[in-house]
Amino acid sequence: AVTVGVLALQGDVREHRAALEAAGATVREVRRPQELAEVDGLVIPGGESTTIHKLAVAFDLLEPLRERVRAGMPAYGSCAGMIMLADKILDPRSGQETIGGIDMIVRRNAFGRQNESFEAPVEIAGVEGGPVEGVFIRAPWVESTGADVEVLAVHDGHPVAVRQGRLLATAFHPELTGDHRVHRLFAAMVRAAAG
Ligand code: GLN
Repeated sequence: AVTVGVLALQGDVREHRAALEAAGATVREVRRPQELAEVDGLVIPGGESTTIHKLAVAFDLLEPLRERVRAGMPAYGSCAGMIMLADKILDPRSGQETIGGIDMIVRRNAFGRQNESFEAPVEIAGVEGGPVEGVFIRAPWVESTGADVEVLAVHDGHPVAVRQGRLLATAFHPELTGDHRVHRLFAAMVRAAAG
């Protein structure tokens, strides 16, 4: 059986853990390089990407995270996690870096003031059974993507779910909805990668 890690530095770790367990995965929280080495895939939760970046540096995890992603570990990021998986942030806060892996540029807090938080149905390619309820909380959108990035969902003309190989990212938070289809998709990606 595969073990799915949840990067547990900051953010909605507990909610991802519950969603993954509901999707049938064995879950482990990751705070140290040794724990990262022992998981088959990793979820990067929603929260605050600047804080996740700082803590990843402080916990000596940023380089190990980059190495595992480069080596093909499946990873799924929601919201701040999407930002962490982007190769590039538009106008990054000074010093803010990402893990990278998905050839895209993201715009933080993109949906603007009136719309900082909202819910909207989102149709995701590869997720059967109708739209998921997209919970957007100071969410990013994807500004542009490279040729190898598949756009799985669009809201208001902007990509909000993408996949590149074994990397998956959503601007919204399926972990907050009780609908586990996105986590089932990611768990299946982890099992497929483990062979
Ligand atoms: N705005 C946050 C950031 O830039 C993301 C918000 C979230 O994860 N809900 O990191």
